[in-house]
Amino acid sequence: MSDERRRYLAQQVELGGAEVILETALVRREAPAGAPASSPPSPSSPTSKSSPPSQQKWKKGAPPIPGPGIYIEPPAPTLLSGNALSELETLDAVAERIRTTHCCGLCPGRTNAVPGEGNPSAQLMFIGEGPGATEDALGRPFVGQAGKLLDEIIQAIGHRREDVYITNIVKCRPPQNRKPLPDEIAACMPYLHRQIALIRPKVIVALGGTAGEALLDARKSLGELRGKVHSYGGIPLVVTYHPAALLRNPNWKKPTWDDVRIARQLIDR
Ligand code: URA
Repeated sequence: MSDERRRYLAQQVELGGAEVILETALVRREAPAGAPASSPPSPSSPTSKSSPPSQQKWKKGAPPIPGPGIYIEPPAPTLLSGNALSELETLDAVAERIRTTHCCGLCPGRTNAVPGEGNPSAQLMFIGEGPGATEDALGRPFVGQAGKLLDEIIQAIGHRREDVYITNIVKCRPPQNRKPLPDEIAACMPYLHRQIALIRPKVIVALGGTAGEALLDARKSLGELRGKVHSYGGIPLVVTYHPAALLRNPNWKKPTWDDVRIARQLIDR
């Protein structure tokens, strides 16, 4: 029996119900390319239909909704150049502006800007840090390894990728995937503020500390930001681990599963 298979079976025993969905996804992501047929079964494809209510396994053992955290009033979406974005009435118009504008030092190095994608009326919005190499090459957010895991997380809470909206704090790839610098974040945030204003999601999930800090304009650790329901101008905002961090440290998958189930519950509140 392969190590992957042994680990998968151990996790099946350790966890029950819907948690296995996310566990399976995480184990599958960690398995080497071309893993043998004994690998765990794949969950349904990202385009499969949402589970009917009777199959909403994510509800089993979901943690209670935690108390309030930080309240932030969204600022007016104006680029540092003074270029106001409020007149942009659609997500396509925002994306076009992103693709045709250089707003910080990251822009000249991009292959493609990555404005974001998904349902313009999404109830749920996922916000990551910044595009990686695959995203830069394709001009789409979360389409590399971390993106595959994000797709699985979205499915595990009964949604499909195309139901939600996915974007990043910065829209151009930082070199060597380094964290975006404060001035790069400040230059790019107005686009995100305008995107959120147009979508008006019911819940925002910030993926990782960089996204949490930028959205809440707070200098706090991920540990301090997790476990609370923050408010972005009245929209509940939950901060969790970045999918890339889960690929590196599987111990964070259970807390992430709790966080996204909190976010899922907030949609129905
Ligand atoms: N990591 C991110 O934060 N965003 C992406 O789009 C891909 C990887």
